[in-house]
Amino acid sequence: MLYRTVPKTGDNLSILGFGCMRYPSKGRGIDEERTIRQIRQAIDGGVNYFDTAPVYHMGKSELILGRALAGGYRGKVRIATKLPHWFVSEPADLDRILHDQLDTLLTDHIDYYLLHNLSKGGLDRLRPLGVFGFLDAAKKDGRITNAGFSFHSNVQDFKEIVDAYPWDFCQIQYNYLDETSQAGTEGLKYAASKGLAVIIMEPLRGGNLTGRIPESVQKIWDGAPVKRSPAEWALRWIWNHPEVTVVLSGMNEEAHIDENIRVAGTAAPGSLSAEELATVNAARDEYKRLMKVGCTGCGYCMPCPAGVDIPGCFAKYNTYNLFPHDKAIKFHYIMRHGGLEEAKSNAGLCRSCGKCQKACPQALPIPVHLKEVSKEMDGMIPIAIPIFKGALWCMKKFGRVRRFVTGDRSHA
Ligand code: SF4
Ligand code: SF4
Repeated sequence: MLYRTVPKTGDNLSILGFGCMRYPSKGRGIDEERTIRQIRQAIDGGVNYFDTAPVYHMGKSELILGRALAGGYRGKVRIATKLPHWFVSEPADLDRILHDQLDTLLTDHIDYYLLHNLSKGGLDRLRPLGVFGFLDAAKKDGRITNAGFSFHSNVQDFKEIVDAYPWDFCQIQYNYLDETSQAGTEGLKYAASKGLAVIIMEPLRGGNLTGRIPESVQKIWDGAPVKRSPAEWALRWIWNHPEVTVVLSGMNEEAHIDENIRVAGTAAPGSLSAEELATVNAARDEYKRLMKVGCTGCGYCMPCPAGVDIPGCFAKYNTYNLFPHDKAIKFHYIMRHGGLEEAKSNAGLCRSCGKCQKACPQALPIPVHLKEVSKEMDGMIPIAIPIFKGALWCMKKFGRVRRFVTGDRSHA
């Protein structure tokens, strides 16, 4: 594991951070035992930065991280968590929320404390509530060690926020598709020039840059001077920037944890050759050509009062457009969002109220995109769902449902 130094404090952070927003699931909940094993696997591999937030996993992310760090692990790591400042309506809320977080995380201090998804408007609202005095006091009495903010807005606002307070660090979305969006490369360099450590989130853009790779992008990776997985290319590209301190990865597969730790052992700043950088640029250009909706799956737009699963619909729509030959994607969309077993959550439910759009850090015109999604994906729902329901009824009636529901395809 390589480590990089926080400029203002000299703290050494592992270049790979563990993002605690995508724990492995079991049934409809979190697989807590496996999550704890994975967190400890990462620590044993040298990861010392764990990023959580009260809103991740509906409050359970902090809780499980606290449990995972019991038994001697707490002292080996830095905890980063965030103030959900939209719940702050009076000054006393600031201390109350931090107190709750310390209790939840089973710790007496937060190493890296962020104002979550801070915008210029959010800061204007928080200033009169005394947020800077609160951060100063919490640092002074040791409840927090470093103060920072996470950010999803534009680079102009980013610079204003950087200059508004003597922050120790910030957290921005950055990957080879986002060089010029949000804070982007300009913001990264600006923050670093002001002495802030920069933590990177969404390095794989919500998984869009790995997993199922479009044929045309895969061809680019296959023709590269060295053979690497798409995830490795994406991570190495970010770590190539000397201004980057930590890259967060929302890891939930043991093999991915090991793989990322391996890559983080050699990804020094400036280690990519000109030829390797040209390969990543070619992949970026191809993705931009193929992708329809720039949704990262962050979920800030949820819940929708009309019941639309906004990130879920966009994810399937993007995948469908990246793999138009794969008819199963439309089938999965219908099964998931068409109301087969749970309430409907398809794009066509959108009433264009605009609530979600205000919360979207990517500033996506969500209702407009949902109309496109509905046009492409919803058409078969009124026909397919009754057919599927009938088929399910028959399978249940004739006792064949188990192998379809459980995936058990053996003849035993
Ligand atoms: S605009 Fe549509 S998707 Fe967004 S919150 Fe309103 S109904 Fe839901
Ligand atoms: S639509 Fe925007 S807010 Fe909603 S999940 Fe996608 S990126 Fe996040």
